[in-house]
Amino acid sequence: AKEQGGNRLHWFDAAMDHRAAESARLGADLEHALARGEMFLLYQPIVELPSHRHAGVEVLLRWKHPLRGLIPPDVFIPMSEQSGLIIDIGRWVLENACRQATTWQREYGDDAPEKVSINVSARQLAEPSFVSDVEDILTRTGVDRSRLMLEITETAVLDSGPALAAVRELRRRGLRVALDDFGTGQSSLSLLLDCPVDVLKVDKSFVSGSAVGNAGAAIVEGLIGFTSRLHLDAVAEGVETFDQAEHLHSAGYRFAQGYLFGRPMPAEAIEATLARNRRE
Ligand code: C2E
Ligand code: CA
Ligand code: CA
Ligand code: CA
Repeated sequence: AKEQGGNRLHWFDAAMDHRAAESARLGADLEHALARGEMFLLYQPIVELPSHRHAGVEVLLRWKHPLRGLIPPDVFIPMSEQSGLIIDIGRWVLENACRQATTWQREYGDDAPEKVSINVSARQLAEPSFVSDVEDILTRTGVDRSRLMLEITETAVLDSGPALAAVRELRRRGLRVALDDFGTGQSSLSLLLDCPVDVLKVDKSFVSGSAVGNAGAAIVEGLIGFTSRLHLDAVAEGVETFDQAEHLHSAGYRFAQGYLFGRPMPAEAIEATLARNRRE
């Protein structure tokens, strides 16, 4: 029996080695992904309730590996944070999203997405050059800064004084900031005293459990009172059903995002809806 256990342990080690090797290979490929044109952006609508009118879009990064196909951001973003590649990747996302926003502004005017929301990782935010990088990109792309929203997570600002300072400075310069995945961290509420933001994105884990009578419902309802008291906008994330949308609306939510209103999609698909809105 002892021998068997030993074998099993050996097998387990081998599996771990295999996984570590896979991950190392993916990490090596990630280094060239941008230069090889394997990254692209999708856009997911953020809508107003109850009209479902587009109020903005969130920019979501994708990596299409030539052999393995689409790698989810939950896999490659943490890898790129660890290696530091997120700095280059993050700049690329910002620049391309701003370019897209400028194009929409030019071609659709008042009908362009009002807000383009861009995810910023903890590591990017703590980079000393982050604020000036953003300014450079704003200048190069000519984007209207009042249309941009930067989505940050609470761990980003909890762990780092420089990140907190960057958030304050960016808001002073007229950019808007959203606190992402709100409620999933540790000290969400007290954080808001130190780190004023414009928008709270209420995490989908509460929204999907928000059917009347569930614990999620109480949280979702409590948070809306809290945000309005602080003069913040709230966006409910991960809305998948009409029942959820209805409950959120009656609880007082003005903005929502989720598969019910649209999956992350290429810019052209967003444009099709903009053109349709204009004709109506
Ligand atoms: P996130 O910022 O919380 O983005 C929302 C995620 O929820 C997206 O996953 C989106 O596709 C998914 N989602 C939207 N509606 C629904 C719904 O109704 N149901 C469910 N189950 N999911 C929904 P995605 O695109 O896979 O991105 C995962 C995470 O990767 C993002 O979470 C964000 O943390 C990170 N990420 C994505 N793009 C970027 C980026 O450009 N930069 C950085 N730093 N992180 C990014
Ligand atoms: Ca986000
Ligand atoms: Ca989120
Ligand atoms: Ca997330």
